[in-house]
Order: sequence, then C-alpha cells, then structure tokens
Amino acid sequence: MKLLEDRIRKDGTVRNCNILKVDSFLNHQLDVTLLDELGKEFYRLFKDEGVTKILTIESSGIAIAMSAAREFRIPAVFAKKNRTKNIEGEVYSAAVESFTSGITYTVIISKKFLNADDRVLIIDDFLAQGQALKGLVGMVEAAGATVVGCGIAIEKGFQDGGKTLRDQGYRVESLAIVESMDPENGIVFRN
Ligand code: 5GP
Repeated sequence: MKLLEDRIRKDGTVRNCNILKVDSFLNHQLDVTLLDELGKEFYRLFKDEGVTKILTIESSGIAIAMSAAREFRIPAVFAKKNRTKNIEGEVYSAAVESFTSGITYTVIISKKFLNADDRVLIIDDFLAQGQALKGLVGMVEAAGATVVGCGIAIEKGFQDGGKTLRDQGYRVESLAIVESMDPENGIVFRN
C-alpha cells in the first residue's frame, strides 16, 4: 500500500536493523486518518469472507483493529495481557513472547467473545517472528471458530513469521512488507 510505504519512508526510523519505529503515526501517536485508510484496505481485501469479528492483541493492534471493524461494522475484540490469577474456565489463553521486550506473557480472551460460528480476521501492527499471531490463531481455533486471515500493517519480510503462517495455509495480507532495513541504506520494500 503506497500510502503506508511512503509514510514509513518519511517518518519511520530503523533501530539496530531489527526494530522499525513508527510511533509518530501508528502505535503511540496515532494518525487516525491514515488508520482509517488501513481499515478501508483491510475491508477491501477481506470483504467477501463473511468476517464476523476482528481480533487483535493489546495494545498496538487496537487502533488499527478499530478502523477495520468500523468498515466491516462488526465488533473488535482484543486479547488482554493477563492480570488475574483466577481465570481458568472463563477465558482462552496463550503464551506470547514479545518480540520487542523478549518477555513471555499470557494473553487472554473471555470465552463469551469468541464463538464457534465466528469467522475471525486477525489484525496487528507488525508481523515479525509470528509469536503474537500464533497465540491469537490458537485461541480462535480453541473456540472452534474460523481464522479467515491475518491483516498486518507492516510485515518484516526478513523475519520468518509470515512464511511460517502462509506455509501453514493461513491467508496473510500485509499492507507493507519490509524486505530489508538499516540505518545507512534505509528501508527497502518488497514489490
Ligand atoms: P511477532 O510476534 O510477530 O514476533 O512480533 C509482533 C509484535 O511485536 C507486534 O505486535 C509488535 O507490537 C511488535 N513488533 C515486532 N517487530 C516490531 C518492530 O519492528 N517495531 C515495532 N514498533 N514493533 C514490533
């Protein structure tokens, strides 16, 4: 998506060849006009799939998920980082290792918000090694619901999360795929 690629080129910064900072428009300060365009693009890509729910993970995915859900006119649900101990039976849970912090935490979704007849579009800001998506996919499937696909704003194509998920048969649509990036040569996108 040219709009997103142009914005990443203009305002994104590369940290130690592995982390792309886009906090001035995507996941800290939010350019809501841009987010709405991302939501429209996800709608265009998945509108024929009978999507009933958008699912993301807190916190960076929430704003993008909202924009998409507004287009589909369906609810957006976000997996929460677990804060209580007494959760058994009421929630689906998954262990997710954070790519940026290296910490593994448990995320939960209340069972009442995922049903077996749901067709779920998973949305996130980044796809790196795929840990976040793996956790979300696992919870959708534990509910007996269907993963329609994954809509990602920025995939880092030089990390293997996207390949792993596609090899497993999931439809992954990334609006910008970074092929390589470093502070000297800048950011190169996959065509
Ligand atoms: P994964 O689970 O695919 O390894 O990593 C995805 C998660 O890590 C995303 O939810 C995102 O919050 C974070 N993440 C991964 N790579 C980057 C990055 O280059 N920049 C930022 N800002 N976040 C990232």
